[in-house]
This record gives sequence, C-alpha cells and structure tokens, in this order.
Amino acid sequence: MTRTFTYRGSAAHIVFGAGKRSEIGDWVEKLSCSNALVLSTPHQEGDAARLSDQLGSLSAGVFAKATMHTPVDVTDEAMEAVKSARADCVVSLGGGSTTGLGKAIAYRTDLPQVVIPTTYAGSEVTPILGQTEGGRKTTVRGDSILPEVVIYDPELTMGLPLSMSLTSGLNAMAHAAEALYAQDRNPVSSLMAAEGLAAFKQSLPALVADSSDADARADALYGAWLCGTVLGTVGMALHHKICHTLGGSFDTPHAETHAIMLPHTVGFNAGAVPAELQPIADLFGATPGAGLFDFSKEISAPQALKDLGLTEADLDRASEIATEAPYWNPRPIDRVSIRQLLQDAWEGSRPA
Ligand code: NAD
Repeated sequence: MTRTFTYRGSAAHIVFGAGKRSEIGDWVEKLSCSNALVLSTPHQEGDAARLSDQLGSLSAGVFAKATMHTPVDVTDEAMEAVKSARADCVVSLGGGSTTGLGKAIAYRTDLPQVVIPTTYAGSEVTPILGQTEGGRKTTVRGDSILPEVVIYDPELTMGLPLSMSLTSGLNAMAHAAEALYAQDRNPVSSLMAAEGLAAFKQSLPALVADSSDADARADALYGAWLCGTVLGTVGMALHHKICHTLGGSFDTPHAETHAIMLPHTVGFNAGAVPAELQPIADLFGATPGAGLFDFSKEISAPQALKDLGLTEADLDRASEIATEAPYWNPRPIDRVSIRQLLQDAWEGSRPA
C-alpha cells in the first residue's frame, strides 16, 4: 500500500468535562475580550440568562432569537444587538442553530466565538456556515467561521430529550461514516471517525436505558466532538448531499433526515469502499448498511422518510435535485439509482 496524505488539524481550542462551563469567563478573557454577547434559541433563553449572570461584568447581554437554517434577517437583527452592546465576542449556547448564528456574526465581523454545544450536530468544530435568504440555503467556508474555543460540558446535554439525543447522535455518526471514505481522508481523520462511531455505539443504547446516565452523556458528547471535527476537516459525499437536498428543498427536519438516510447511503456505497467501511462492519455487525439499520432500530430511532411527511412524488424531484450538479462519491451516482435509494429510505426497508 502506498501511504500518501496531507493533514490539516482543526485550530479550535477544545475544553471538555462535566462542569467546565464554569470556566467561561476565563476563556472570554483569554481571548482578550471583556464584553460577550450570549446567543441562544428562544427555547434555551433561561440557560443563556444563567450563563450571562455567570459572566457578570463580562456579559454584554443575551440575544435569544437563533433559529434553524440561520436566516439572514435574524443575523441582521443580531448584528444590531452586537453593535448597540459593543460586544467584542459571542458565546453561543445551544445546538447547530445557535452555533450557526454565532458563525454568521463572526463571518461578518471576525469577532471571536466561544461555543458551548448542547446537541451532537458538530457545527462548533467546522469552518462551514449554512445560511438562508429568500428560501435559498447557501454554504460558505472560511477561517473566521471556525469558533476559537469550544467548551463541551456534558451536564448541559442532560436536558436534551431522548428522541433528539438519538437523532442528533445518528446525525453525528453520518459525518464519521462519510469521513471514512472521504477522498482527502488521512490517518488521523480515520481514527477519529472510527472512535466517534464507537462512542455513539456505546452511548446511545445506554441513553435509551437511562437518558440521565452521566457517563453515557459524556461519551456521546465526546463522539460529537470527534465526528464534528472530521466533518470540518475532510470532504463529504452522497449522504450529506442528499440530506442537504431534503432539508433545503422539502424542509425535512435536520437530525431526523440524517438519522433515516445514514444506513441507506452507507449501504449504497459499501460495495465500492469495503475496506474503508470495515470499521462500521466491525462495530455494528452484518454489512455496514444493515448493521447501522439494525442499530437504529434497536434504539427506536426514526427509520422511514414517509414519516417526515415526504410523498413519493417528492422523491422524483429530490433525486433530480440531488443528481443535477456532479460531485464526487465513491460509487458513481445517477438519477435512477438515487431514486431507488430514496424509495428504500422512504419505505424504511433494511439495506442489503
Ligand atoms: P438545533 O440547534 O436547531 O436545536 C433544536 C432545538 O433543540 C432548539 O429549540 C434548541 O434550543 C433545542 N435544544 C438544543 N439543545 C438542547 C438541550 N440540551 N436541552 C434542551 N433543548 C435543547 O438542532 P441541531 O440539530 O443541533 O442543529 C441543526 C442546525 O445546525 C441545522 O440548521 C444544520 O444545518 C446546522 N448544522 C451545521 C453544521 C455546520 O458545520 N455548518 C453542522 C451540523 C449542523
């Protein structure tokens, strides 16, 4: 085997541990900042207010209007809050939606970001920002988008409802699955991807048994960091393209869509990259696609696109959109095979 690769690690500074949110003030000061605007969704405003209290004189207040898909008009409103409070950094407390708002502010201003993630989506360790304007979602990459500091405190994930914990975990696992066969993968990204998958294999069934199991919560958040990091450092393929199409054009919920599609996209690619996907077969048994399907069934995660309100007619349009612009995938794709893949995911059938 010829070993050839390039490696670029993530520049994000990672702090991990139960209770670590108590260090927030130290991290704001280490960034040479003294006036942090705390961001959250309306749903997590109470937690954001507590964090703001904890920051004391280092807080510039709370902006609690973050929402799915980072609409540009919400960012405009947040920019007014940044300016009027003279904020010199942002602290994003929440899932991918809140992190997205912090990234959008940083993209416009280059303000430093501290993120305290409370789901497993992984956005906090990627230099990628997806935002929507006029119903269109566009994606940009850039160094200013990558948050400077991420504080992973598993205690803050205790309140993440079990169903969201499972779909968010499977969302993260999809980053790792595609990282295993990424064209620009490297030995470190492959190790991180396999370790991330193992962390979720261990933790998600444990959360089903007891959603406040502190060790399982820590393992899942550890998996989220690993899977998010590979999402940010190597390229994605079919799985992310299809989920982007379904979410962007049919408004299907982000984590559920990833959770349902994962066994099918992995099953689709398995024959083309058997060695690369061997870590999945080793962890989940059977074939990679069937093993992931059985795992998702075992934890009672959603398994059929039809349960998300998609119609069979939508599948025709989705397969057209997902194949209209060429992109790399280990197995060549065409409209007919993608239409069949979507049919299987719509019905929730077990991949071969
Ligand atoms: P989310 O951030 O939209 O959160 C969903 C809901 O759960 C929100 O109301 C939130 O306040 C609530 N919530 C979050 N954590 C909670 C907790 N611990 N306890 C109680 N409630 C909690 O969901 P998400 O799946 O984390 O993020 C999805 C968004 O992130 C999408 O827009 C997606 O495109 C984006 N994303 C971006 C990247 C990237 O690299 N750019 C990566 C992954 C996801």
